[in-house]
Amino acid sequence: MTEDQIVQFQSKLLEWFGRNRRLLPWRETKEPYKIWVAEVMLQQTQVKKVLEYYDRFLEQFPDIFALSNASLHQVLKAWEGLGYYARARNLHRAAQMVIEKFDGKIPSEYKEFKSLPGAGNYITAAVLSQAFNARYAVVDGNVKRVLARLFLIDQPVNQSAHARLFQARMNELLDQERPGDFNQAMMELGATVCRPESPRCQQCPVQSFCLAYQTGQQDSYPRSVGTRATPTYRIAVGVIHHDGRILITQRQTEGLLGGLWEFPGGRLNPGESPEQACLRTIKEKTNLDVTIDRFISQVHHSYTHFKIIMDVFDCRTESNNILLKGPAQYRWISLSELSHFPFHSAVHKFIPLLKGQENDELIRD
Ligand code: SF4
Repeated sequence: MTEDQIVQFQSKLLEWFGRNRRLLPWRETKEPYKIWVAEVMLQQTQVKKVLEYYDRFLEQFPDIFALSNASLHQVLKAWEGLGYYARARNLHRAAQMVIEKFDGKIPSEYKEFKSLPGAGNYITAAVLSQAFNARYAVVDGNVKRVLARLFLIDQPVNQSAHARLFQARMNELLDQERPGDFNQAMMELGATVCRPESPRCQQCPVQSFCLAYQTGQQDSYPRSVGTRATPTYRIAVGVIHHDGRILITQRQTEGLLGGLWEFPGGRLNPGESPEQACLRTIKEKTNLDVTIDRFISQVHHSYTHFKIIMDVFDCRTESNNILLKGPAQYRWISLSELSHFPFHSAVHKFIPLLKGQENDELIRD
């Protein structure tokens, strides 16, 4: 595009955004903390889901000081069900760093903000452009799709080797006076008009600039390379009863689902039955010898890069001689205390079944 065309493009897009933008709470503020929380929540997560959490999270942690003073347990509990828990851990740690290193003031300098845990190129550009009107262009999946169609970019959008190419295109287009609004407008266009399937080209404010539209190739862009099939893992876990209580364990802070709680168990070895794996992995991780009383349920759950099929068993043990190997810590709790701990979503799929047996199964012990 020529410079004149870029100016026209910006004007049409921003005018459309002014009339069509969705009213979202993080668009009604210039407070860096509130914008930052929203951007972290919105990574890999749909707006509808974030809206269920955003206001409640800000009520509990209204500013950077409240978040930095909270325990990780409280933050994970507030994040429970939103997924990608590394985001919550990083945000919590980053809040503490803002207090320690920047006197409680969220940095407006790119390098400083990007030095915070979890602040990659996208989050940094998104927060700084919206909160401080800084001239940084964001590139997310929506933006890449729009760019690929506008300019017929043949490089796959899902290969990191081409990230700079998309970034350069977006940098050229960025409105220098209203970078935050422009970034939001491009993402909004991708989310609501230039959708992955059946883009609404007749409603598109930048249709006259779009090479894919002009050549009828909207459905051929963006290009992407095939991804590997998602593996499925078989898991077995036990709800272990002892002395009127049940055992829960906490995952190590680092790594997948770090810091969340669960019931002990693990992956099946080849040729192993779920019952055998349940007994073996409980022994390996807790040192407990348990007896299986009954099968409770089978849970199917999908994560980003794999799926699990998890068999859940009711178990009992006579011993309390726990030696942990793997989990960070354990608790013996009553069923009514389950709601005090943050669990990952796969566990939530069978917790209601446990609550149904509250009055008879626990008393049985
Ligand atoms: Fe996307 Fe169609 Fe607009 Fe092109 S004209 S940017 S394909 S919605």
